[in-house]
Amino acid sequence: MADKPEEKKCRCGHTREHPWIVPKPDYSFWGWVLVGIGISHPPTEIRFECDRCGDVFETISDGDTLKQHTYH
Ligand SMILES: [Zn+2]
Repeated sequence: MADKPEEKKCRCGHTREHPWIVPKPDYSFWGWVLVGIGISHPPTEIRFECDRCGDVFETISDGDTLKQHTYH
């Protein structure tokens, strides 16, 4: 029996679902330009950062997940 993969946590022990954890999108240069003028564009990468301890404990750069995080 394989154990469930452990959820990633920041240094103070919060998972992605916690309100202190803020996804910080990263865009390519043109991505920033498009978002800056109000056109939604999927980020190239998202970093999950804890507002409390400042730990970036997870980075996502997988296309499907990024699309779900497209800001409008
Ligand atoms: Zn933390």
